[in-house]
Amino acid sequence: MTDTYQNFRKRLLNGEASCRGVVENYLGRARSKSNLNAFLQLFDESIEAAERVDAKVKAGNPGKLAGLVLGVKDIIAVRGKRLTCGSRILEDFSSVYDATVIERLEAEDAIIIGKTNMDEFAMGSSTEFSAFGPVLNPVDTERVPGGSSGGSASAVAAGLCHVALGTDTGGSIRQPASFCGVVGLKPTYGRVSRYGLVAFASSFDVIGPISNSVYDSALIMEVMAGHDERDSTSAERPVPSYTSLLVREAGGFTVGVAKEALSSGIADDVRQTVEKQIDDLRGAGVKIKEVSLPHLDYTIPAYYILATAEASSNLERYDGARYGHRRQGVDELEEMYVESRSEGFGPEVKRRIMLGTFVLSAGYYDAYYKKAQRVRRIIKKDFDDAFRDVDAIVMPTAPTTAFKIGEKTSDPVKMYLSDIFTVSANLAGIPGVSIPVGRDSSSLPIGLQLLGRQFEEETILTLANHIEQSLKS
Ligand code: GLN
Repeated sequence: MTDTYQNFRKRLLNGEASCRGVVENYLGRARSKSNLNAFLQLFDESIEAAERVDAKVKAGNPGKLAGLVLGVKDIIAVRGKRLTCGSRILEDFSSVYDATVIERLEAEDAIIIGKTNMDEFAMGSSTEFSAFGPVLNPVDTERVPGGSSGGSASAVAAGLCHVALGTDTGGSIRQPASFCGVVGLKPTYGRVSRYGLVAFASSFDVIGPISNSVYDSALIMEVMAGHDERDSTSAERPVPSYTSLLVREAGGFTVGVAKEALSSGIADDVRQTVEKQIDDLRGAGVKIKEVSLPHLDYTIPAYYILATAEASSNLERYDGARYGHRRQGVDELEEMYVESRSEGFGPEVKRRIMLGTFVLSAGYYDAYYKKAQRVRRIIKKDFDDAFRDVDAIVMPTAPTTAFKIGEKTSDPVKMYLSDIFTVSANLAGIPGVSIPVGRDSSSLPIGLQLLGRQFEEETILTLANHIEQSLKS
């Protein structure tokens, strides 16, 4: 049973529900569904936090997110709590401060009930690469929930919290949202502060919500987004009132269909379902126009060069001396580094560090890293060109629905290809949202993705809200 925060809030404000009650309920459900492995930690103190918010509700001054039960991907710092990033190397590491997003959400009375499981250091597309075991998809527990924010998507889809935070470096919010049948928003790069987010690939990473409705994602963005002096890449732009803009008519917008994204390599059910939505948008008065993203095939190689290069440098700090796991019983410094890292990192992270170090090394830098930077610029330009004619671009979120656990773990390239439709938004820094639009022949959720111009989250949210509402009626 899932619920939206929007619905809960109505019951809270008219006295039919309490924060304490809802937190206890979700904690109980999370415990009873521990087989999903969606949460790495649950916070019993959240019951006391709920009592404090109940007192504020009684006193007539509830925050904007009063009683919103939140799961937080375990790569975002919450003061005094373990911050593992799904890795052995940080298994015993606790954060001494709150991320900016946590400060802002708690200031509006959101209640954090725990930290969600994830692929180690957010590297993966299935959440099978967590050092603490794979996460299961609640729709079908033989299948992956997607990744890397699979714990967050699984928790929201299973009704273990109202909303969960994820991070998206190459698709890690949208693809798991698609696999689990929930809403996932990747904001524009720089729209949300990264202060307190452990870095994977710093020029791609962004925090965003996974929720059971477009409205809930819009609401949480109003609180979370905006400039932060502690993150110099956060944008100094005002934050629109996303929730009030949601109700605009969809009819005035022009939506682009990228022909390259609906051609080869997509499951039939996924293609047909997305095409049906495009027809329905047309029927609702949305102008549909074909656009071209001619370099779509180059996005995966470019992303996996640039993201691994950045990761290899960001992960240098886990050396056994400054943070986390240290191999005991070795006296020699270099051996201590090697042994600590060898024990602390899992296979996918090691693969990425090696790839990233390789593409940055003298002699290969020009051939790989520099070339990939050029491809990134070209992809950004493709989007700029397309967005001259259209307000948003529609495509599937992923080429398939959720795959079976173990199906792709032995073939990294196959795994990487499940990001084919998501990585381009990270290369270009633009926002994207995935919403559930139907089921395939095995009853697995299908996600539709809308991409927008930089800092125009409100446009894709309005269109997503229109689709969500029309699917209800
Ligand atoms: N699946 C992609 C990767 O493995 C994206 C991960 C992410 O967005 N954090 O790199």
